[in-house]
Amino acid sequence: MNEENIIYSCLEHAELALDDFVNNEEKAPQLEKIEEEKKCSYCEKAAEYKIEA
Ligand SMILES: [Zn+2]
Repeated sequence: MNEENIIYSCLEHAELALDDFVNNEEKAPQLEKIEEEKKCSYCEKAAEYKIEA
């Protein structure tokens, strides 16, 4: 079930993603740089980071 709580974000939206994560999860998020080809959850750019607990 934890798979659902992952947010992908580009550099620009990293802060927003962290805020969203804290609001939804009430846990400390971990920001991790990714090599995978994922799309940002907030725009059409390629994601640079993965946010998860
Ligand atoms: Zn973005």
